[in-house]
This record gives sequence, C-alpha cells and structure tokens, in this order.
Amino acid sequence: MNKVFVVGIGPGGAEYLTGQARAALEASQVLCGYTLYVELIAPLYPGKETHTSGMRQELERCRWALETAQRGKTVALVCSGDSGIYGMASPLLILSPEYPEVAVEVVAGLTAANAGAAVLGAPLGHDFCVISLSDLLTPWETIEKRLRLAAQGEFALCLYNPGSRKRKDFLRTACEIVLAEGRAPDTLCGWVRNIGRPGETAKLLTLAELREEQVDMFTTVYIGNSTTQNVQGRMVTPRGYRT
Ligand code: SAH
Repeated sequence: MNKVFVVGIGPGGAEYLTGQARAALEASQVLCGYTLYVELIAPLYPGKETHTSGMRQELERCRWALETAQRGKTVALVCSGDSGIYGMASPLLILSPEYPEVAVEVVAGLTAANAGAAVLGAPLGHDFCVISLSDLLTPWETIEKRLRLAAQGEFALCLYNPGSRKRKDFLRTACEIVLAEGRAPDTLCGWVRNIGRPGETAKLLTLAELREEQVDMFTTVYIGNSTTQNVQGRMVTPRGYRT
C-alpha cells in the first residue's frame, strides 16, 4: 500500500506508545526518522527495515518517506511526542500533494507538555500557552511577541526548546520578558529533563531562579500563572473553583 503514517511515539520508551501508534508501527514495513527515536522503538519491532537520519534533515526525511511509499511500501515516519506539535506531520502534509498516490495518516502522541506536566503535578490546570524558544524556523521577534502577550494574558507557559549550546541565554531572556510584563519573581516554575527516558529529572524553582538556570534541549520548562502553587512539592495551577 502507498501509505505514510506519521507517528508520535510519546516522550520516552514503549510505555508511552498509544495503541493507535503501536498499530501503525505494526502495519508498517519501514520505520524511519531521527536516529534517537527510531532506536527507541525499533527493538519492539524486530525484523522491520529502518532508515535513520540526523537532526535538521526534516524535509529530506519527509521526501524519503513519501518516495518510499510511492514505490509501494508502508512507511512509519516517527517523531517524539506528538507528530503534529513541532513534529513532522505538517511538513509531510505540505509536501504530500506532490505524491498524489500516497496516503498520509497522522497518528497523535503524548506531547512533552502534558507528559512533563504529570511529572511536576498539574502545572497546566488552566489556560496555558506552549511556546518554542527555537529561532531556527521562527524569527526571535515573533517569539518575543508571543512571550509578551502570553504573559499579559495571564497564561501559564510551557516552553519547548528552551536552550542549547548555541542559545545559552534564551531562557534568561524569556524570563526577563515575562518578569517585565509583571509576573512576580516568586512565581512558581519548574522544568523536567528527559521525560519518560532514563535519567528523568525535575525541579521546582521560582521565576527569578529560573532566569539563572542553565537548561538544555532535552528539557521542557513550565512557568506558572499568578495562582500556581506548591502543594507538598507538586506544581499546581488551580482550575479556579471558588472554595
Ligand atoms: N514533537 C515533540 C516536540 C519536539 S520539539 C513533542 O510533541 O513533544 C523538541 C522539544 O520538545 C525539546 O527541546 C524539549 O523542550 C521538548 N521535549 C521533547 N521530548 C522531551 C523529553 N522526553 N523530555 C523533555 N523535553 C522534551
């Protein structure tokens, strides 16, 4: 069959795969994607052909999947978390009209935002915004504007791509923007590194402390709103019930 499943595999190992993701992987002849993610799931499906590629080769990866499906194979293009949240579903769908014989099926996965939230407690219990601090595909001015407006809107924030070797001070700048919009320095924040993977670690801290924190690209960051509280070591944003 000429088909590409674009499969979100969740943040970590096999226990995060949904039944729908498992069925798509099972139905595929070829598993392809970024090396780390293919390596996470390939052992569950021994004997399947695999094809891995490095970071920043996303468009080539999509084309490879579409071309392989065009030649008659069923392909699973895997990505971490959800396939449509900073994932491969959108580039794949944008390229897919060039391959009219190929059907594309998007398979959702557990995204870092909610998997990490569960590790911390319930930091996203009310309205929130997810913002990526990566300026590889988005101009920094746009990121800054979104941070400013999300802070003004009293949203809790979940930050993806909060740092890397080349972008050491992005989190600091993001915190400064949120502080400048009036969020209190003692606002409860948290981060989770390697959600669902070996060596998972998490920390709660204030917004002022988060500004000084060094985090890497394997980390998801949470900034509470004015009602977010520490409940016996868990980060909780209330639903808003008047008690
Ligand atoms: N499609 C993915 C997001 C890819 S963007 C998803 O839905 O989760 C990559 C960013 O996601 C990372 O920089 C990090 O901020 C976050 N992320 C993805 N997997 C993670 C994990 N296992 N632990 C912590 N953060 C993760």
